[in-house]
Amino acid sequence: MKSLLSLLTFLSFASALCAADRPNILFLFCDDLASQAISAYGEKRKLLETPGMDRIAKEGIRFDRCLVTNSICGPMRAVIQTGKYSHANGFYNNSNSKFDSSQQTFPKLLQKAGYTNAVIGKWHLMTDPVGYDYWNVLPGQGAYYNPAMIDNGKTVKHEGYVTDIVTDLGIDWLKKRDKTKPFMLMLQHKAPHREWEPPIRHLDHDKDRVYEEPATLFDTFEGRSKAVSDHDMGIGRTFTERDAKLVTPGNLTPDQLKYWNEYYEPRNAKFREANLTGKELVKWRYQRYMHDYTACVKAVDENIKRTLDYLDQEGLAKNTVVILSSDQGFYLGEHGWFDKRWIFEESLSTPFLVRWPGVAKPSTTNGKIVSLLDLAQTFLDIAGEPQPSDMQGRSLVPLFKGEEPAEWRKSFYYHYYEFPVPHRVRPHYGVITDRYKLVHYYKPDVDDWDLLDRQTDPLEVKNFYADPAYADTVKELKAELTRLQSEVHETLPPPRIAHGNAPFEGEPAQPKKGKGKGKKKAK
Ligand code: CA
Repeated sequence: MKSLLSLLTFLSFASALCAADRPNILFLFCDDLASQAISAYGEKRKLLETPGMDRIAKEGIRFDRCLVTNSICGPMRAVIQTGKYSHANGFYNNSNSKFDSSQQTFPKLLQKAGYTNAVIGKWHLMTDPVGYDYWNVLPGQGAYYNPAMIDNGKTVKHEGYVTDIVTDLGIDWLKKRDKTKPFMLMLQHKAPHREWEPPIRHLDHDKDRVYEEPATLFDTFEGRSKAVSDHDMGIGRTFTERDAKLVTPGNLTPDQLKYWNEYYEPRNAKFREANLTGKELVKWRYQRYMHDYTACVKAVDENIKRTLDYLDQEGLAKNTVVILSSDQGFYLGEHGWFDKRWIFEESLSTPFLVRWPGVAKPSTTNGKIVSLLDLAQTFLDIAGEPQPSDMQGRSLVPLFKGEEPAEWRKSFYYHYYEFPVPHRVRPHYGVITDRYKLVHYYKPDVDDWDLLDRQTDPLEVKNFYADPAYADTVKELKAELTRLQSEVHETLPPPRIAHGNAPFEGEPAQPKKGKGKGKKKAK
């Protein structure tokens, strides 16, 4: 009996040792972080220097075409948890979706495999996290200043700036985690989500610099679907006083409010006096937007540096895979927009930087089509775990290793659903290749196809769909779109998922679902 016990003790010790050898995973995640604001991506406007994030690119791989499947917050978080498209995981939009946490997710599988997991910061899935040993998340969108957070179910009020607080909590968890196990930490920043409220310490970070405008700030949307021109997310038509910092946020301490007013008030007084309209007003708002947005990103960058420094100090850097990404990209004035949602490149693609010492070759780039859809399988593969066959992405580990898989994807499927609020972006789906995007805006009052050609029109301001020179391309892309929809098992039209289940404008009201009538849907 004694020898059996000591054998069991030895076996559990050996398995703990083995577990500790597997790589840790640190997922640094942001909300609405545009690659245009990361200096490692080298955007022409040079909006900001981001040495913290650039360090990951320098010591690892910069992916240049990481795509999302449905460009908004909650849905992409559900895609990451499950490795499945929105129609397969059931979380379509931010308006009325709730994550079904009983389904298979990668953290649950990692936990079973012996990992200790935590998620800290923005969660936004409307149900409590499952599959984590520790969770401490913002309620809904959360606040930038002095936020409340939900610590394993208990609401705790914090004083300070959200990005600093989330990092503090992440480092605290790393200190107190179960060190016999490898860890998987999702450190999920709220920033730089709207309304882009800067840390007080960075209010004057750019010394009233004048930011270069994007070439498409005044896009006229000529020749494109009404779906594109009839949006409600323009710096011109949609920007609020709160977006422009013409009103103060309600949750500042008296001290914070004093510094806030000292910075914004003299500048706002000048603005009011100038009484700007038309293009001049858009230009002013764009400058204010860039000031605030980059200040938020600057704080994220500092905190990423701080997190990486902690890994160094603790000797964790060598055996930890670090991934930096965002739930989608974002418009920084391109097409006159803020926000996301569209299949256009700025919000379709998202930053993706990976550091894996000894595996990922430093200072390299990769232009293959990858996706946040691939993360669940990637994390499982990093841990040496099998990838469930019903997940819909693929492991990126071969690409991290610098391999050239013969059969890598050459096309990708996209589908956005949320309409009409908050930004009147009509539902659309499409197929994406290295060069083209074929998009179908299909409801409620449109039935339009747009063809984008990034090679001849990198700014994506033209529609080539009706151009006879593209007839064969359209035909091929339509066939590919049908193939992809069948591959991911999406049946069209999608179920009724409008905001609050109100009928779409121009659509007949839907009959209410009967309770217990046993009515079966006709096949
Ligand atoms: Ca987001």
